[in-house]
Amino acid sequence: MSSESAQPDPVDTTSPDGTDDDTGTFADLGLRAELLDALSTLGYEEPTAIQREAIPPLLAGRDLLGQAATGTGKTAAFALPLLQRMPADRRSGEPNALILVPTRELAVQVSEAIHRYGRDLGVRVLPIYGGQPIARQLRVLDSGVDVVVATPGRALDHISRGTLRLGSLATVVLDEADEMLDMGFAEDIEAILQHVPEERQTVLFSATMPSRIDGMARQHLRDPARIEIGRQPAPSGTAPLVRQTAYVVARSHKAAALGRVLDVEAPTAAIVFCRSREEVDRLTETMNGRGYRAEALHGGMTQEQRDRVMGRLRAGTADLLVATDVAARGLDIEQLTHVVNYDVPSAPESYVHRIGRVGRAGRQGIAITLAEPREHRMLKTIERTTGQRISIDKIPTVADLRTRRLEMTRAALHESLLEDDLEPFRVIVETLTDEFDVMEVALAAVRLAHESTGGTVDEEDIPQVAFRGDRDGRPRRDGGRDGGRDERRTGAGRSRPGDMACLFIGVGRRAGIRPQDLVGAITGETRVSGREIGSIEIADRFSLVEVPRSAADEVIARLRQSTIKGRKTTVRRDREGDRE
Ligand code: AMP
Repeated sequence: MSSESAQPDPVDTTSPDGTDDDTGTFADLGLRAELLDALSTLGYEEPTAIQREAIPPLLAGRDLLGQAATGTGKTAAFALPLLQRMPADRRSGEPNALILVPTRELAVQVSEAIHRYGRDLGVRVLPIYGGQPIARQLRVLDSGVDVVVATPGRALDHISRGTLRLGSLATVVLDEADEMLDMGFAEDIEAILQHVPEERQTVLFSATMPSRIDGMARQHLRDPARIEIGRQPAPSGTAPLVRQTAYVVARSHKAAALGRVLDVEAPTAAIVFCRSREEVDRLTETMNGRGYRAEALHGGMTQEQRDRVMGRLRAGTADLLVATDVAARGLDIEQLTHVVNYDVPSAPESYVHRIGRVGRAGRQGIAITLAEPREHRMLKTIERTTGQRISIDKIPTVADLRTRRLEMTRAALHESLLEDDLEPFRVIVETLTDEFDVMEVALAAVRLAHESTGGTVDEEDIPQVAFRGDRDGRPRRDGGRDGGRDERRTGAGRSRPGDMACLFIGVGRRAGIRPQDLVGAITGETRVSGREIGSIEIADRFSLVEVPRSAADEVIARLRQSTIKGRKTTVRRDREGDRE
């Protein structure tokens, strides 16, 4: 892949998955040029952990038993080797590889992935699943296919009709094997495996490894390479001061959800991580179209382009950096307040590494993850590995956003009332009150102020979705955890909202104030630690900071006596303060 020119980070030299050395490229794994080209077009910059571990033994023809959940990149881990090993001369028309999956969605998804990876190899892929007209499947099977991706029931159907012939199979993949067993496909799978050649490669992936899967592996796999992803301990020293929240959102609403969350969070500067270069470009364009000042950063850019992007971020002319892991390696951006995972990262170590970019040096950072309903398991694995809780929150609604914006307008007006430079405007109010009631004049002025600062509210409400039930169809066991939005506004989920007081501080973005300045001032002057500070919001001319209610008076008194960034400033309880 392209040479990566990020400057090494002087402090943190670990790669996203926590290893100390270079992670290697797809080319290093020995993949052929056609596959490398396809991956590059898809914008995959480097292999994920499971791909690094699984591809070499699979290319060598070994069987493999892998424990990995959705979102780790396991599809490419088994698909790339089977594509590479596919003979150029495939005259028989019978499939060379069979992939069994539990659901029709997965059959379609895996087929599409194989189609994309195998683009330049002319590989013919067919998904077959129940509910789809069988005539079309028969026609395609008859004309010859190389890879069949099937649900077990429908595969068996075709085998017994003689329309799916497995005599030429070189590879069989059992994907999400635990789900297939849970769905009652054990017998079908056994029956299918009776029809496949003895000499073949068998790959089994499962998110969990109950003894039934073990038994299945012992029976059907020969001396398999074993891989377990997501169980390694997190790199040491990684308990950053970061409030961690995940939002569950359907893929089609992700960009809108990102915008909504950013609107409510109002970060000083945020980095949004995407899996691929292609996604970085697409999302950057979308976010710019939605009125954010977003910049793309990926491994395909020259050092000069990267420097320009970083310059704009540092100068504050960009506030959103959309990046791949590779491109962001080695960046240390002081003003970052938020890290957003546009997808659940492919390994817990990658998550830890990403969120470590905020919450440094005692400042509080915020990590936000947009998870699709089916990515629940990966999120749980991350929680288990890091030993830290990720609170599940609801995407703010249009009403939440409006409330939030009104609150900001009220605070801005309040601040303006406290300043004494209002005289020049008196004449306007006096003239208008000849014709209108003073309340009406005030309302019109508030509206103007609100509209001039609020930006456009996109009125589309984003559908609330939940995590897909656990494999056995039962609802999530931790269903009580997504208990409302209150927690989102408190420091790292440690305090209940009622324990916090909201303080108004009369300096904001225009005075160059960043969250770390406020944290520094508070922790430097009082007994409050960085951990105890809740949410921080910085507006143009003021900031709102949550501190423990018990320490509020001390913080107010001390900050009034001292300076923030060299300025004396107003410090008081926010009028709506002490939010319950
Ligand atoms: P999977 O775990 O196979 O469902 O893959 C999860 C997602 O990661 C899919 O959208 C893939 O397209 C994407 N993906 C897989 N491998 C990579 C990679 N090396 N770089 C970027 N994206 C990837």
